[in-house]
Amino acid sequence: MSEFLPICKEDIIKRGWEQIDFLFISGDAYVDHPSFATAVICRVLEAHGYKVAILPQPDWQHSENFAALGKPRLGVLISGGNLDSMLCHYTAARKPRTRDSYTAGGIMGKRPDHATVIYSKIVKKLWPDIPVIIGGIEASLRRFAHYDYWENKILPSILIDSKADLLVYGMGEQQIVEIADYLTGGAQLEDMHYIRGTAYLTSELVNMDEKAVLLPSYGEIQTNKELFAKAFQLQSQEQDPFNGETVIQKNGNYFVVQNPAPYPLSTEEMDAIYDLPYCREVHPSYLPLGGVPAIEEVQFSIISQRGCFGSCAFCAIHSHQGRIIQARSHNSILAEARAITALPNFKGYIHDVGGPTANFRHPSCAKQLEVGTCKDRQCLFPTPCPNLDADHTDYINLLRELRALPGIKKVFIRSGIRYDYLLADKQQVFLDELCRYHISGQLKIAPEHISPKVLKCMGKPGKDVYLKFSEVFDAKNKEIGLKQYLVPYFISSHPGCSLHEAVELAEFLRDTGRHPEQVQDFIPTPGSASTAMYYSGVVPATGKKVYVTQNPHMKAMQRALMQYKNPKNRALVKEALEETGHTELIGTDDKCLLPAYLGRSGTNKRTKFDVYKDRVGKKKR
Ligand code: SF4
Repeated sequence: MSEFLPICKEDIIKRGWEQIDFLFISGDAYVDHPSFATAVICRVLEAHGYKVAILPQPDWQHSENFAALGKPRLGVLISGGNLDSMLCHYTAARKPRTRDSYTAGGIMGKRPDHATVIYSKIVKKLWPDIPVIIGGIEASLRRFAHYDYWENKILPSILIDSKADLLVYGMGEQQIVEIADYLTGGAQLEDMHYIRGTAYLTSELVNMDEKAVLLPSYGEIQTNKELFAKAFQLQSQEQDPFNGETVIQKNGNYFVVQNPAPYPLSTEEMDAIYDLPYCREVHPSYLPLGGVPAIEEVQFSIISQRGCFGSCAFCAIHSHQGRIIQARSHNSILAEARAITALPNFKGYIHDVGGPTANFRHPSCAKQLEVGTCKDRQCLFPTPCPNLDADHTDYINLLRELRALPGIKKVFIRSGIRYDYLLADKQQVFLDELCRYHISGQLKIAPEHISPKVLKCMGKPGKDVYLKFSEVFDAKNKEIGLKQYLVPYFISSHPGCSLHEAVELAEFLRDTGRHPEQVQDFIPTPGSASTAMYYSGVVPATGKKVYVTQNPHMKAMQRALMQYKNPKNRALVKEALEETGHTELIGTDDKCLLPAYLGRSGTNKRTKFDVYKDRVGKKKR
């Protein structure tokens, strides 16, 4: 069994260290598992000979706690955690969440809002002479001036507010080793201003590449929404390691300079990261609180690759991990699976083998490892690119090898499947094996919507592709004699979706007999194209105006339409149908979404209580 990394002074003394090289401050509890960025970065540094200690969720109200492990020799690394701290703390309705999966016992309040900024400011005050390097999803997706949904305003680059010396964007393993090696050699921070995958602040632009892309400034995008959308589009086109340029944005008296992205990791490099000696457990100090909930999802899951060429507009993963797939070898994955089978609580089920998209195991086309991904076209949208290499052979073989391992009863696939990619594969073997071996009764998929207008904004395939997949899925299950169902996920109130499109979706749900138990409101998280649309009312890629609803009551009506059968939603659905002129959908006809009136008695008679409820419902708007 591996040893956990030090999290307190006693651990450091036990290792015989006088001083640590790096202090890693994290907004999450410490879980030593490769799904947690803190563990990965610290294990990578450890493997390169650095002494690293972790300070998980320090009490930010008392800054002396930040010095508990002593001043590090080379630098302080800061991450807000696996999720953006605001997303972790607040819902789509901007209400506080009740549970934090990344904290022991699921307790809320163990990290501040904007954790990266708060931690960094404290450290800069405590040790002004120590380099502070921020990274993780929060820093990465807030590297330029951006819209913060929960504060409902444009914030400057996180480099400005945090006062950090350097920002690592993306997954960070290559950058952190390069930074550590330079700091060891006595380099100054300015000497590291060319490291790929980093961003920094400077008061003057010196020796900039003439091809560098200058974005509209923070000041400009605060007052001009079109320029905000333009800034988003310009920077998102420069995220490819092979053809992306340096990107610059003026923020107040400083310039944020983003160096091009790091080159994709080779299979050997990916293996080296995932083969490190993770304990695969939460730190034992959390056990009295029942552990850290987030481990439950991933303890028996295997990350097989990173990157995503799906480019869904509401997701920023391609801006963090890139569009080029980087995959581990079968041997590395099989070794991890064997290690999982040895865990005392393993019951024989691998929960997942995937990545951002389960069935993307190799780059979408051959040319991109030389010239990069296309700036002006997507690999799957609006239709699969003619150059797309849609082939599941490697994934199928990997899954077969995993299934054959002793001690493994079943290998599930829980990461999302891109069914348009699956359908584009001419061999169609994957669907057969998926249905036979890798699901159990249900397959969750994410059409997200069915209206062409909305799907166009989302960058998702059309309704016909979803229906085609449903058809082949049902046919396959019939052929192999299994009763298995699709569970489709839909998003309400995405940019482009007015009440009319929401009614269109409700009618589709009626016609296909789908009645979702859970519905998800669109959340404008930092760094996604959909967030840029939500804030600016403009589609960044085209500059065209797009409908956006920000009104909570309109959003509630959209959500209610997706669950029109729920009696609690009756008043909202009725109002939505009346507002869109779809009163023909209220009545006794089979096609109606709402009965003419079904009171509490279950008849068409309205009771006084029903009248009162409708009136109260309207007043609340
Ligand atoms: S050529 Fe096609 S598959 Fe390749 S990167 Fe461009 S859009 Fe994607």
